[in-house]
Amino acid sequence: STLQEKINDTIVDVIDFPKEGIVYKDITPLFLDATLSGEIVDEFVKQAKGKVDVVCGIESRGFLYGIQIAQKLNVPFVLIRKAGKLPPPTINESYDLEYGQATIEINPNYIKEGDRVLIHDDVLATGGTAEACAKLINKCGGKISQFSFIVDLTFLNGKDKLTPFTEEIISLTEY
Ligand code: IMP
Repeated sequence: STLQEKINDTIVDVIDFPKEGIVYKDITPLFLDATLSGEIVDEFVKQAKGKVDVVCGIESRGFLYGIQIAQKLNVPFVLIRKAGKLPPPTINESYDLEYGQATIEINPNYIKEGDRVLIHDDVLATGGTAEACAKLINKCGGKISQFSFIVDLTFLNGKDKLTPFTEEIISLTEY
């Protein structure tokens, strides 16, 4: 079977989580399968090779394959975290959620002027989180060369928020 089929057979749908009416994609069963996880990392690496100077992972599931992608590309890995978790120096970016706001932070010294940055996360939903990350990278002087996700929930049109930064938006499966 294809990589996409293996991923689809492994991800679990959780009904009414975190609230009623939501079908949550639980991607954590992927981490139980070391062979499949290796194939996933290799696919992300293949699609990023030669295009990336830095990998940024979005807290927290973006860290898991993100650092492996960075190590295989032999480039730095930088954490983008929720506000209040990283020590100074940090810069931040706030964005709207369905209810309220969220803020993310990065150490700006870890991105060099002109760096080609890969932003990696597990799931692309509305795109608000990844868009805020891209703005944060731009503030640091970096440019977005690629976004990569395991899953794109296409019915939420998250890609529309990301195409202003780059046309390179990779997902290994979509719903
Ligand atoms: P967005 O900002 O609406 O695109 O939401 C993306 C963020 O929410 C990512 O960091 C995801 O980890 C998380 N997320 C949204 N939906 C799901 C899901 O169904 N499964 C796992 N994570 C999700």
